[in-house]
Amino acid sequence: MTGTYVDAVKDHSAAVLAVISEAYVAATVEGRVVQWNPAAEATFGWSREQAIGGDVARLIIPERHRDMYREALRRIAGGDPGRLLERRLQFTALHRDGHELPVETTLTVTGEIVHALARDVSATLRGSRFTVVEAAVLRGLAEATSSDDAAVRVVGALGVRMGWPVSELWLFDADRQMMTCIARHNRAGRDLTGFALAEMEPHAGLPGAVYRDGRAHWIPDVAAAPSSPRRRAAARIGLRAAVGAPIRSGSQVLGALCVFGDRAEPSDATLISLLSGLAAHVGQYLERRRAEELAIDLARTKDEFLTMVTHELRNPLAVILGTVALLDDDLEPAERHDHLRIIGSSAERLSTMADDLLDLARLESGSLEIHPADLDLAGLLHDSIATARIAAGTKDLTVRADLPFRLPLCGDPDRLRQVADNLIGNAVKYTPEGGTITVTAAADAARPGWVSWTVADTGIGIPAGERSRLFRRFYRASTAVAAKIPGTGLGLVVTRTIIERHHGTIAVADTAGPGTTFVVRLPRSG
Ligand code: ADP
Repeated sequence: MTGTYVDAVKDHSAAVLAVISEAYVAATVEGRVVQWNPAAEATFGWSREQAIGGDVARLIIPERHRDMYREALRRIAGGDPGRLLERRLQFTALHRDGHELPVETTLTVTGEIVHALARDVSATLRGSRFTVVEAAVLRGLAEATSSDDAAVRVVGALGVRMGWPVSELWLFDADRQMMTCIARHNRAGRDLTGFALAEMEPHAGLPGAVYRDGRAHWIPDVAAAPSSPRRRAAARIGLRAAVGAPIRSGSQVLGALCVFGDRAEPSDATLISLLSGLAAHVGQYLERRRAEELAIDLARTKDEFLTMVTHELRNPLAVILGTVALLDDDLEPAERHDHLRIIGSSAERLSTMADDLLDLARLESGSLEIHPADLDLAGLLHDSIATARIAAGTKDLTVRADLPFRLPLCGDPDRLRQVADNLIGNAVKYTPEGGTITVTAAADAARPGWVSWTVADTGIGIPAGERSRLFRRFYRASTAVAAKIPGTGLGLVVTRTIIERHHGTIAVADTAGPGTTFVVRLPRSG
């Protein structure tokens, strides 16, 4: 009878140990494993067959803690367990794949055997740490001086306080139709070559998927995800699980907040909702900030418009009126001729300004049309240079051209000529006597199917800090204003729009020293 009863209890105990969610590990006081249930297999990664008979310290204790652990077993064996038994203890355990995990455990001793029931508490700890992160993020957003600064603070808080090796904030750049990484935190200073991309196609990778679907995505293992463009780099760096949550402004998705962990992990609904909550804070912040920046921008544009009108409209008008007043019948023919020439050039300035304003109006209404045709960019640039040589000659400027014999391209000949005239005309206008202007164009060595074209001068230059504002309506650099060179600050706005309608780009090269270099890149196919 008794035997049957004991056997039945044993069977039940085994059945219970097989189904409980806590890992059950039993070991001798010398540290040899004698029991290992399925939850222990899942928690620590070793199968029962691999674990039984093994050294428990080697299996589940990180190397740096093993001596301490063995010392604890010795104390238990010596009958002096101190405060180790029957209490909930927290310690850091080791998984078979090398990652560490926080576990909560209770130890019991029966005879020569130490029994441990352990539970992985990563998710619980993560939840409570998230509350701290949320507070840090909100504080960071309140203290941020700009959207970029805010982005840096958010990814920093996620990395430092949550322990994610890499966290990123991506926003969709409507001008360039690309996802752009605004801020990235690399917690452990890993070499992120191949992973730390500055931009990605709007539908590529985790940021693209989150942006496209407007919902959170969880990738259990980036290194194994076939659709991930960064999977090879991720595998090399040791980045595995990835989570991204959408950043929204109202119903519009602005971008994605993404974090990368260093082990593969199945989807965790709590973490997704916590990250989504943070992303929502960021979205609200960006919405507020954009409204403020827009208001500041409008006020600035208004100021710059008024400055432009006062100078550029009033000056030539004053010259015309003043000179007309001097025209009387007693003037010598030569003097009369001079006066008429002055009136003519002021009228020309007004006419250029009217053209620029008309182009701007077309641009704003979206009716600046492009009529593409096959053209030769080298010939177009030669023609533009020939026209500019007349003005350049009066200032004793040297104009150099480094152009191929032909450079075929599909584009709008009139509009691209307007771009060339503006860039070369500006180079002439902003370069003092005796300077040099160099125009080059060639197939872009770095980008097959593209041409790159530059206009460089040795003139008054544009201060580096002002270059980002250059393509804004009515903006004039301090160097141009100080040199009292007339202009409307509209040519480059129109120029950039024309180039973008050709799917190309324009930028001021980061060159040191005096002068300015504009670089235009255009796809050959238009
Ligand atoms: P504008 O020349 O009529 O003022 P643009 O839009 O063509 O208008 O140029 C905007 C501003 O950019 C100019 O006012 C000037 O400050 C600066 N800029 C453009 N090209 C040059 C250049 N080659 N060298 C120095 N400054 C330049």
